[in-house]
Amino acid sequence: MSLPIVAIVGRPNVGKSTLVNRLAASRQAIVHDQPGITRDRTYQQAFWLDRDFIVIDTGGIVFDDDTEFLPMIREQANLALSEANAAILVVDGQAGPTPADEELARWLRQQHLPIFLAVNKCESPDQSIILASQFWELNLGEPYPISSIHGNGTGDLLDAVVAELPSIDELPEIEETNVAIVGRPNVGKSTLLNALTGKNRSIVSPISGTTRDTIDMHIERNGTNYRLIDTAGIRRKKNVEYGAEFFSINRAFKAIKRADVVLLVIDAVDGVTEQDQKLADRIIEEGRAAIIVVNKWDAVEKDSYTIYDFEKHIRDRLYFFDWAEMLFISAQTGLRVDKLFGSIDKAAIAHQRRISTAVINEVLQEAIRWHSPPTSRQGKQGKIYYGTQVSSAPPVIALFVNDPKRFNESYKRYIDRQFREQLDFTGTPVRFAWRGKKVREAERSANRATKV
Ligand code: GDP
Ligand code: GDP
Repeated sequence: MSLPIVAIVGRPNVGKSTLVNRLAASRQAIVHDQPGITRDRTYQQAFWLDRDFIVIDTGGIVFDDDTEFLPMIREQANLALSEANAAILVVDGQAGPTPADEELARWLRQQHLPIFLAVNKCESPDQSIILASQFWELNLGEPYPISSIHGNGTGDLLDAVVAELPSIDELPEIEETNVAIVGRPNVGKSTLLNALTGKNRSIVSPISGTTRDTIDMHIERNGTNYRLIDTAGIRRKKNVEYGAEFFSINRAFKAIKRADVVLLVIDAVDGVTEQDQKLADRIIEEGRAAIIVVNKWDAVEKDSYTIYDFEKHIRDRLYFFDWAEMLFISAQTGLRVDKLFGSIDKAAIAHQRRISTAVINEVLQEAIRWHSPPTSRQGKQGKIYYGTQVSSAPPVIALFVNDPKRFNESYKRYIDRQFREQLDFTGTPVRFAWRGKKVREAERSANRATKV
């Protein structure tokens, strides 16, 4: 996903997780690991007004302690910071500045990214300025008094943070398309892998930081680079041990997570099975681009209706996957295998696409003109103020409305369809985030604030 990243750092118990929970779009609970064990980084998606970003909670960092797991936490924090676009140092306003805060501040000042200082646990409006002002001595600029529990002050903090984040247009484009080949055992994944790599230049390399049995293969074709994910897993011959099925689906899930484009391979002879549907569900959940690859087309008895019948069968069983292109191939004979690259490129481009706010609003206005939003029984009509793309890979379009509850599923589907018809998104899922009036009001006040 190409989104800017904000790292949350601070010593233990200052309220980092509480802040992350408040910022996170999904109110998913953050797993608190047991004390004494490395806390892994947690990534969550968050937004403020019309800016989306990822927040990373780095776990508690204390530099002057020497318990054995600290080097690991420190390494995690370093890694988190190296991939972040901004960091928020959280301190405890009620406790005042501590030597650990000072040490952290000194370390952060050496990092090359904007740092914001959040003074947490400032519930009382009368005291918050006084509590916060004690932290000027950390030399990190203005201390923002906040209460992660109640939400006070977080708006001002976030206004400042998002102003420093790169817009999605400024984030780097991917240089290599990550492709995962998934499907049930025996659908022809390894045969397809051989067909794809056979004529094309390929290099095999283990991914750094993982066990040797996960191997990616890089191929280059007409100047474009592809990384085929976990080719060792594709090649692994099915074993009959207990649980092999479980491990192979888990392996596929992991590959999907790392992919830009997923090739969902289906056996033309067997048709769509329950396992295929599970994989398709996961692809959508992870927001990956995909192509439905119907393999063993050579083995199907054909008459002139067959492709049509097949396509209908597959579309019926995977109806929520209607955005994906379908290709009928034979990995064994090579039929249409070359065409696959064109489809991968197209899907990858759609997945990465950035649509200007002007174009999005043209589509919206046109859609509303044909079919206005529903009116409730009380006579209140849904209003869409404007839309803007807040994230790519997959594209996420935020729609600012008076009240998301006024828009029923059928109207939401209508809007979705209009976007698909007007702007070609073949190959990628697209998400819509319906955001209510409060956000818009907040934005107006934010605009006012920046104009003053
Ligand atoms: P972390 O270790 O930095 O992630 O801290 P947690 O988020 O787990 O919070 C540590 C403790 O501080 C918990 O008991 C929270 O309830 C409390 N806490 C967090 N935010 C606030 C706040 O804004 N005000 C007050 N009074 N307590 C808070
Ligand atoms: P995997 O388990 O998904 O990796 O499947 P394999 O690539 O090992 O293929 C399973 C079986 O299907 C093998 O016997 C292949 O020869 C056969 N197979 C693979 N692709 C095709 C194809 O396009 N047409 C036909 N007729 N057989 C195929």
